[in-house]
This record gives sequence, structure tokens and C-alpha cells, in this order.
Amino acid sequence: MSKKPGLTVLAGPTAVGKGTVSTYIRDNYPEVWLSVSATTRAPRPGEQDGVHYFFKSKEEFESLVAAGEFLEWAVVHGQNTYGTLKSTVNEAIAAGRSVLLEIDLQGARQVKKAVPDAQFVFLAPPTWDEMVRRLVGRGTETEQEQQQRLETAKLELAAEPEFNHTVINDDVRRAADELVSLMGLTPHPH
Ligand code: 5GP
Repeated sequence: MSKKPGLTVLAGPTAVGKGTVSTYIRDNYPEVWLSVSATTRAPRPGEQDGVHYFFKSKEEFESLVAAGEFLEWAVVHGQNTYGTLKSTVNEAIAAGRSVLLEIDLQGARQVKKAVPDAQFVFLAPPTWDEMVRRLVGRGTETEQEQQQRLETAKLELAAEPEFNHTVINDDVRRAADELVSLMGLTPHPH
């Protein structure tokens, strides 16, 4: 058995499928406490406040930053601001929950400074071409946004050695099960 860490951070390049893996975990592993981030981004269709994100105005987000409420926060893809609230994470850890943060690389580096003994997991694409295909296939971004995301992704791929473990997202369910095992939990039979 691996040790059971309180806090696990999942990061990786753009469009590698972090969101899909964390959605799978939210739907199938209620024993994992998946952190709900705050963001200034507008909700996408179907996204609910308090479930997928806490949707904030820029002003609200700035006052939370000024009040020191964030464990980490970052501007992602040069666009919107995202952050993890200290209070929610601390409460979940205090309650003995296995906590998972799905955040970008800049955020992961901040958590590494603040909580060096957390577990850091890098979610990697099977291949670069597959990652590009996923990014373009999503179709929710403009061409300019896609280019911006690919640039970010190249830099992010180079960060893999900073992490404790790499999970390859060749299959969402398999990758989620491996992540859950790394968190010291037992994957479910499917
Ligand atoms: P999306 O807008 O597609 O939901 O998320 C865009 C990116 O923001 C993803 O790479 C996701 O990992 C990152 N992200 C989501 N929440 C947080 C957070 O709380 N902190 C940081 N640093 N990044 C986040």
C-alpha cells in the first residue's frame, strides 16, 4: 500500500484531459474530495456555481487575493484567473478527506512551495499529436485561443520532472484509477 497523502495535486498540459479525469473522479469516487476552484471565467453551458467552480467577478476575485484567501492562484492562458481557496482545502484535510486539486502548472508550483509534502501528479498525453487533436476537437476556443493554449502546453510538457509521478491519459477510466491508487485509495471494479 502506498501512504495515504492528504493532498494530491493533478496538473499537466492544456487539453491533456485533466478536466475529463477529474469529472470521472467526481462522478465515480465520492471518497475523493475534489476541490472547487474560484474563477473569473464565465460559466460554460451546464456548469453550476459551487459545483464546477465558484464563479466570481474580477473585483470579487481581487478582494479574495488581497485578503490572502488563496492557497494558490494564477492567470491561465493569459485570460482568466483561477484559484484554490485555503479555507475549503484546510477544512477537508482536517476532516481526514483525501483532497485532489486539478490546477494548472503555475498553481502546482505555488502549492509545492506552500505544502512541500503534498503529492504532485503529472497527467501526460499519450503523444503530442493526440494532445493537439484533443485541443482542436473540443471546439470551444477560437483559433487564437487554441494557439495560445498550444504555446502554454509546450512549456508545460517540460515540467514533468518536477512531479512525483506521471500518469498517462491513454484512457480516462484507467488514468483515474491509477490516480486514485496513488492517493492511497482502492480503485473500484467497473
Ligand atoms: P477551464 O477554463 O477549461 O475549466 O480550465 C482551464 C485551466 O484552468 C485548466 O488547465 C485547469 O487546470 C486550470 N484551473 C482550474 N482551476 C484552477 C485553480 O484553482 N488554480 C489554477 N492555478 N488553475 C486552475
